[in-house]
Amino acid sequence: MDSDIAEILFTEEEIEQKNRELATQIDHDYSDRDIVAIGILRGCMFFMADLLRLLKVNLTMDVMVVSSYDETDTVSSGEIEIQKDFSIDVKNKDVLIVEDIVDTGLTLYHVKEHLKKRGAKSVKICTMLDKPSRRNLDVVSDYNGFVIPNEFVVGYGLGYANRYRNLKYIGILKPEIYQN
Ligand code: 5GP
Repeated sequence: MDSDIAEILFTEEEIEQKNRELATQIDHDYSDRDIVAIGILRGCMFFMADLLRLLKVNLTMDVMVVSSYDETDTVSSGEIEIQKDFSIDVKNKDVLIVEDIVDTGLTLYHVKEHLKKRGAKSVKICTMLDKPSRRNLDVVSDYNGFVIPNEFVVGYGLGYANRYRNLKYIGILKPEIYQN
């Protein structure tokens, strides 16, 4: 698995440190209210697990499964499909979406709208990574870990063909793996 990685961008220690910083910020901002955390699977799984366990504020949580491209593509199809919706009540609640990466913004734009339509009082976004160079829609991550260049990355939940998700670090996948 490691031999398919061109460059490690963030080590396990750097990710841990970043999660602590994000948790401090979120605890501060939500000190007077509870959070409904909605994770977008599958990419959020490790980030969500680590981040939420660092938070001191009261929270409830649920997940959605959303896909914006085929598992063996590295670019978005331009459409999103909700494969599994959340079932928790978000009406008049303060929702925090937890997502691995904001790229074109398509996924988070639609998920945010979806939550607003379900009556959420506020919707904020927390992402581990932001790839601003590819943004098509006006989506801002309220809490973001790292800004990255326009490279296809894997690890810490992010996969290619559903592999590499369990890498402890985040790294750039060698282009020859997907350019066949
Ligand atoms: P967006 O809808 O913002 O274009 O893309 C969001 C989704 O695309 C993310 O949830 C993630 O699954 C996927 N994605 C975007 N960039 C990357 C990347 O560099 N690596 C991986 N593995 N997935 C990515």
